[in-house]
Amino acid sequence: MITSDMVLNRFLNYVKIDTQSDPESPAYPSTEKQKNLGKLLATELTALGITDAELDSTGYVYATIPATTQKKVPTLCFCSHMDTSPDCSGANVKPVVHKNYMGGNIQLPNDKTQVLTPAAHPDLLNQAGNDIVTADGTTLLGADNKAGVAEIMAAAEYLMRHPEVRHGRVRILFTPDEEIGRGVDKVDMKKLDAQFGYTMDGESLGHIEAENFSADAVTISVTGVSVHPGFAKGKMENAIKIVSEIAALLPKDKLSPESTQDMEGFVHPTSISGTLEKATLNFIIRDFEEAGLKVKEDMLRQISGQVMRAYPNSTLDFKVTEQYRNMKEVVDRHPQVVQYAEEAMKRAGIKVHHQAIRGGTDGARLSFMGLPCPNIFAGEHAFHGKQEWVSVQDMQKAAEVIVNICRVWEEKA
Ligand SMILES: [Zn+2]
Repeated sequence: MITSDMVLNRFLNYVKIDTQSDPESPAYPSTEKQKNLGKLLATELTALGITDAELDSTGYVYATIPATTQKKVPTLCFCSHMDTSPDCSGANVKPVVHKNYMGGNIQLPNDKTQVLTPAAHPDLLNQAGNDIVTADGTTLLGADNKAGVAEIMAAAEYLMRHPEVRHGRVRILFTPDEEIGRGVDKVDMKKLDAQFGYTMDGESLGHIEAENFSADAVTISVTGVSVHPGFAKGKMENAIKIVSEIAALLPKDKLSPESTQDMEGFVHPTSISGTLEKATLNFIIRDFEEAGLKVKEDMLRQISGQVMRAYPNSTLDFKVTEQYRNMKEVVDRHPQVVQYAEEAMKRAGIKVHHQAIRGGTDGARLSFMGLPCPNIFAGEHAFHGKQEWVSVQDMQKAAEVIVNICRVWEEKA
């Protein structure tokens, strides 16, 4: 059995290590301090008897749990990210364990204004009798994704101590810089040498996520006509006004992040900048279908074309950059990856719940790099803020699911 302490004690240690990533830094990893956790993990893996645990120079941790079966089982990879979001402080995290939660509000001790209510955190309603971990109200907790890290470590401990559990070769991968979109930039796929993967970075108990947004960035740059304002009549075409008109014509009651949910995509202006002569509008566009991305792109082309008709001497540049794609395309070709995870959850007494991710994951990118990689719940909630929380018993279940996934793959081989 994986006990709750096997997961909790590790988790409490990991969240105290500041691993905030930095989008402004060009370095790999973006912050050197992420290696402090990487070092500890490599040391702990070695202490478990793993002989090849390694923290590489770019901040990735790799390790192998050797196979315990003669059968030919595909190598599985379990992956979590070590960094925390730049959106909220991750320094001096003081985790608080609220034992045996009986419902109601949770007051965070060091900031009176930080109160977790079931109304704001409806998942708390499923946690009666469980132990909840929060931060103290002054920082994020870092359960995203140190919950996943602790679960993989607890599962590794269990598998190393129980060679009678039959499983194939298992690779462990801990990544830096996921929160700034660079989580798999420097993964050495050859060295990783795995056939199928699972990220442990989902939310509620039982969640499995095998589809995510497809994502493009669109940049619209307008070059206007600059003339001395005193002599501009009939000549000036102000790029600031042109891009503002484009922005003003975006739909407000649909196709925006603030008006969509579930399987709906959106067009989202993220920044606007410029001068009279040249102005730029940056967008991200999202949809679960590639055809849906095209529709959104066409809408932006249509709106900007319509605006430009009034400015015959200005020019518009429209640039689309691919960001990431829906992993469903890859994962659907290997249905056993999801099926075996479902079986693993059922054996742990968990009700399976399929979710689509309204964003991207390391797993989405890994899927297109040759490692089909759905996302499994880690028990983390309210990411990137001071009210982040995690359930100890859900973390324990997630670790059990990892062990079960290894078992199921061996049985089916
Ligand atoms: Zn995460």
